[in-house]
Amino acid sequence: MAGEGEARLRAAPAVSMKNCFLAGLGAGHAAAMGRWRLRARAREERVTLLVLKFGGTSVADVDRIRNVAAHVKREVDAGNACAVVVSAMAGQTNQLVAWVEEAWGFKLNNGTQVSAMYDAREYDAVVASGEQVTSGLLAIVLQSIGVKARSWQGWQIPLSTDSAHRAARITGVAVDTLKARMMNGEVAVVAGFQGLAPENRISTLGRGGSDTSAVALAAALDADRCDIYTDVDGVYTTDPRIVPKAHRLGRISYEEMLEMASQGAKVLQTRSVELAMQRGVRVLVRSSFDPPDLKGAEAAEACGTLVCNEDEIVEQNVVSGIAYARDEAKVTLLKIADKPGVAAQVFCPLADANINVDMIVQNVSEDGFTDLTFTVQSADFDRAIEVLKKSRESIGYADLRGSSDVAKISAIGVGMRSHAGVASQMFSALAEKGINIEAISTSEIKISVLIDAAYAELAVRTLHSLFGLDSR
Ligand code: ASP
Ligand code: MG
Repeated sequence: MAGEGEARLRAAPAVSMKNCFLAGLGAGHAAAMGRWRLRARAREERVTLLVLKFGGTSVADVDRIRNVAAHVKREVDAGNACAVVVSAMAGQTNQLVAWVEEAWGFKLNNGTQVSAMYDAREYDAVVASGEQVTSGLLAIVLQSIGVKARSWQGWQIPLSTDSAHRAARITGVAVDTLKARMMNGEVAVVAGFQGLAPENRISTLGRGGSDTSAVALAAALDADRCDIYTDVDGVYTTDPRIVPKAHRLGRISYEEMLEMASQGAKVLQTRSVELAMQRGVRVLVRSSFDPPDLKGAEAAEACGTLVCNEDEIVEQNVVSGIAYARDEAKVTLLKIADKPGVAAQVFCPLADANINVDMIVQNVSEDGFTDLTFTVQSADFDRAIEVLKKSRESIGYADLRGSSDVAKISAIGVGMRSHAGVASQMFSALAEKGINIEAISTSEIKISVLIDAAYAELAVRTLHSLFGLDSR
């Protein structure tokens, strides 16, 4: 197998150093040596390896696929070796899932609970087909405009996964053949979202999984960048629909991107960001609606958001973005005993029921009793209440209250590691607007507060300007 370094070089006729020396001896050998050095330098000039990924809206019909092909051609014409990962046409995967549900005669519970009678291998066989269509179509369109291209299904590469059908994890990507062909100017058009599970079954990577296909491929190819083309032009300081003064971030660190769940997760599948962080893949989020004829690498990075390592970000604000989430619910247990073991009695039955707890606040105890407030995903709210009612005896609380009319607002930024006072500034600003904080949680790079949902937008706007994020 060719070493990584060698494989990055454009294939060139092999001329050994020794032969050159021999050929160069005699009259004018100095000039010959000079020419040889020039050629050698040209040969060793690194080819830029790119993985381009296009989401469902970018390949929604053949016309849009033509636009994708124009983006790809621009990169090929610039001398880059390209792999292109495609999603299914917008809406296709939903349609395929609906057919599976119709065939099985019941509705899937958003991935959390799958009936025992339900065969996830056949779900994968059906829903992986959307990407087969778009990969073939893009290869055809590329060929029609004179670009060498070949489509690849997950099993043909193979992109191997474990056997967790519907949400399989990638275990390896065999890229030698692909890479050799890419270096030869052939575009590899890869069906995203799908892989090959043990026993030769088709697997899928979970909804939104073609982002992860793209990042895994980029890591395996040791690509220079993974460009994720989508229907927005990058990651914003907050949701622009709430704060019109929100602006696109030129760069964002992997860790911040993971925390920007409220809008970030809609742009990139979380797993793809984790993988990019682990493997050091530089990911550029950009829009496929931008004109395909922008030239040059600088132009590319200037028209999107680069998700990268912290130390690649020169101008770092203390806070990079404000995230919000409305999908949490609050549960309060009143008057529980303040003694060892009570917290375990509350949270163990919830964990057994597979309910994730996010923020937790316990009051100071008075006469040996205390109150406990915590949040769960809204989708788990009813089940959490049910579980706690069942455990009333063992926990021993006086009353149980809950509300899903809450919102979690977070200030996120790696700059917090080295700056004190972010929390106090944040709490003062919210207090000035009369917004009550019901729970707080923090990490090294994030401060989150739980507030009444009615104040969510006001809080986001307030914090956005407080931390200097409003565009001028
Ligand atoms: N087509 C798949 C989905 O809709 C995968 C993807 O788009 O990333 O979830
Ligand atoms: Mg997506």
